[in-house]
Amino acid sequence: MIKCLFKILEGIILYLYEFIQLFINVFFSPLPPTKDSPRIGHVAVIGAGITGISTAAHLRSHGFEVTIFDESPDIGGIWRRVNSTSNLQINSLFYRFHPLAFYRSFYPFRDEILAQQHKVLTTYGLDKCIRFNTRVTKIERHSSSSSQDSKIGGPSRWIVNGNKSEVFDGLVVTIGTCGKPRIISLPNQDQFKGKIIHSCELDDLDYTGKSVVVIGGAASGVEVAETAVAKGAKKATILARSDKWFIPRNVILDSCLSMFPYIFKTLTTLVPEQLIRRLHYRDLEEKMTPTFPLYSSTPVVNNAFFRLVRQGSADYHRGEVTSVKSDGLEWNYRLRSQRKGEEGEKKFINADIIVLASGYHRPSMDFLPKDLFPDGYSSPNMYLQCFPVHDPSIVCTNATYVDGFGSVGSLHIGIYARLLALFLRRPETRPSSQFMRFWVDTVRIFKRGFFGGPLEFFTYPEVCIWLAACMLQCPERIPYFFFVMFGFGEWYVAKDGSSRFRYPIMNFWSRIMKQLHRLPLERPQFYIPGPQQRV
Ligand SMILES: Cc1cc2nc3c(=O)[nH]c(=O)nc-3n(C[C@H](O)[C@H](O)[C@H](O)COP(=O)(O)OP(=O)(O)OC[C@H]3O[C@@H](n4cnc5c(N)ncnc54)[C@H](O)[C@@H]3O)c2cc1C
Repeated sequence: MIKCLFKILEGIILYLYEFIQLFINVFFSPLPPTKDSPRIGHVAVIGAGITGISTAAHLRSHGFEVTIFDESPDIGGIWRRVNSTSNLQINSLFYRFHPLAFYRSFYPFRDEILAQQHKVLTTYGLDKCIRFNTRVTKIERHSSSSSQDSKIGGPSRWIVNGNKSEVFDGLVVTIGTCGKPRIISLPNQDQFKGKIIHSCELDDLDYTGKSVVVIGGAASGVEVAETAVAKGAKKATILARSDKWFIPRNVILDSCLSMFPYIFKTLTTLVPEQLIRRLHYRDLEEKMTPTFPLYSSTPVVNNAFFRLVRQGSADYHRGEVTSVKSDGLEWNYRLRSQRKGEEGEKKFINADIIVLASGYHRPSMDFLPKDLFPDGYSSPNMYLQCFPVHDPSIVCTNATYVDGFGSVGSLHIGIYARLLALFLRRPETRPSSQFMRFWVDTVRIFKRGFFGGPLEFFTYPEVCIWLAACMLQCPERIPYFFFVMFGFGEWYVAKDGSSRFRYPIMNFWSRIMKQLHRLPLERPQFYIPGPQQRV
């Protein structure tokens, strides 16, 4: 009875959530361009995952021609390559990668996220500007670029893969952080009689009654364990070389946890850490808590795995594989107090399936000119973490990300896109190389001694503070504050052919009517959610 009431309550909350999303769709989505919309400038977008698609849609709505390059045959990036049972770790409220996104669940699965990407693609006419199966291998400056320092001599202009007939005024590098699957080889793995697969190959596998051993305890390892148990495995056991922090799946708590903009070794970090140990880990504290601080690497956001461990259908151990046998693995069991690689107790675990949850190789940005990254200023040590200190006509949104508390798929994608648009349109708003280096140095000094590193780890409010400060720090940028931060305002071409900007307050309602006609809006539907399971 109580369960039933909770389900109805969840249904009501979801229904309200859909209305909130509809409001965001209507009031914050930029208008899709029409055939007659003026085009001022051409930008190349490298990568067609959520970041590339969203950035391209923003730029197109604000008057740029875009060409998207992706080495894959379809959009979706990493989401296209994961299992159908893969879902979002954080609440989808924080994964609204474009204002037009609309989710019918809090933790949507792969196909729902891909469908939203397709909707943005077609609504903004990006399907006609995309070049699939095109790997970008070389970016060069076009001869019309007058200087490396755009403040002194004008912006750089770019050519992609040596094609001089097409010159771009700006570049967006959105190649993500997950490239090809990282396949590790285990000692003597040829002896194993069962299957060894990577964590992105879970679909179509029969787990019934099988013992599954997962190598790696990060988010993908946890997903494997959950999927295996949901599909009938006898037991799923994670062997992790290093621990990860697990925080609960709770929208309010997760927002609070990411609200610490600057994390010192003080009470502010110890309090949440202690609360998570006592209330979330509880009896699993010794077994699973890391020895490093909470605010130093991206946590796993999960409740279900702890439940499975407590029920006995899943398990977690710290250690490394020493030898693979025909029916299982020999491994070195370590206590929490022992360091990685230190000799512990030799143990054996039976396995029918071994899953390598060893992650993905990071895609390289080495196609960009080397001089963009002088010594000490390579990724992630870049202006606002995303602009190379030598040239603000390039933005590498999310491709420089290392660790953080927050979301890769949130508001900042649009903010970085509009900031690039502003730098390209209004030369007087561009930061100089000198200033961009100064910014990186200042953050490094200010965050010296911080857990996780100055630009390697941040929390979401920190990024928002950087971006807002960037807009307010330069008088020429202030008039565009609401444009960059919220997407308000529009660019138009004046009679003299120049590009102008205005906040169209007077025709606000006519604009809303246009939104209602031109956007593919989804209607909220009330339903009682079933159990969210990976089957
Ligand atoms: C199961 C799962 C759950 C996740 N949950 C969350 C979550 O809850 N919260 C969160 O913030 N993040 C989450 N993530 C992380 C996820 O990686 C990001 O959210 C996001 O999808 C990254 O998108 P992207 O567009 O930046 O990169 P990608 O999706 O990796 O796309 C990059 C694209 O660039 C292309 N590319 C790369 N190099 C080149 C080149 N040289 N030339 C041409 N094309 C190139 C690739 O083919 C790819 O299509 C999750 C990921 C997975 C797999």
